[in-house]
Amino acid sequence: MTPLLDCKDITVRFGTNTVLDRLSFPVERGDYLSVIGKNGSGKSTLIRCLLRLCPVTSGSITPADDFSRRDIGYLPQQSGIQKDFPATVEEVVRSGCLGHHKILPFYTRADKLEAEKNMHRLGICQLRRRSFRTLSGGQQQRVLLARALCATKQLLLLDEPVTGLDPEVSAELYSIIHELNEQDHIAVIMVSHDMEGGLRDARHVLYLDGTVQYYAPIEEFRSSGYAQHLHTDAHLREVYDDRKSE
Ligand code: ADP
Repeated sequence: MTPLLDCKDITVRFGTNTVLDRLSFPVERGDYLSVIGKNGSGKSTLIRCLLRLCPVTSGSITPADDFSRRDIGYLPQQSGIQKDFPATVEEVVRSGCLGHHKILPFYTRADKLEAEKNMHRLGICQLRRRSFRTLSGGQQQRVLLARALCATKQLLLLDEPVTGLDPEVSAELYSIIHELNEQDHIAVIMVSHDMEGGLRDARHVLYLDGTVQYYAPIEEFRSSGYAQHLHTDAHLREVYDDRKSE
């Protein structure tokens, strides 16, 4: 079966800085792909290329015949501006349907039903009239996930979805994402710093580090030197953060 997205030899250069260098990997239907790597390794650049927000210098990203990159449900990294967004939960969720309309500036009955279904799926119906900005971080991520689901049946692209959330709320969000992947067969691309949760449910891993680009099934990745390297890195970061907060 053809993959949802087939990335072949993607190269991205900014001036003389080569950020992605002939990167090739597929996004299989129903896959769970974790993209990991240090800051500056090109993760955001790759996301922007997949969403067509950044052109590739060379190479290609080919969608399957029955899939369009407009159909990617995107959950962006949380920023201060998004957290303060002045809209109700229902409005934020419904806005995920807008990408399907070429011309219509309003919601159809089908859009409203879809938003309703996804609010129900994420357990946020009781929050529908609440202002998005008054919600906790975990609630906001559920709302943004419901919004992303309005945009897709096939592929969720999640950028650091648990950043800033406490461990319990992070675990809840990971298990919702796992369910959407397992039960609803929605493919997931997750960009993450989190070695534990970010890899727990992954089927494939794409590891980026400068010129190193390693794509492998999760079992193969776990026994590779890259996993060890990242564990050491994560450990060093924790020690450093602990020292800073002392
Ligand atoms: P990550 O998301 O892994 O932290 P990024 O994709 O944000 O990495 O950045 C990778 C490299 O690309 C960095 O060196 C960054 O400075 C550079 N970069 C990203 N976007 C641009 C841009 N629009 N113009 C110039 N350089 C950029």
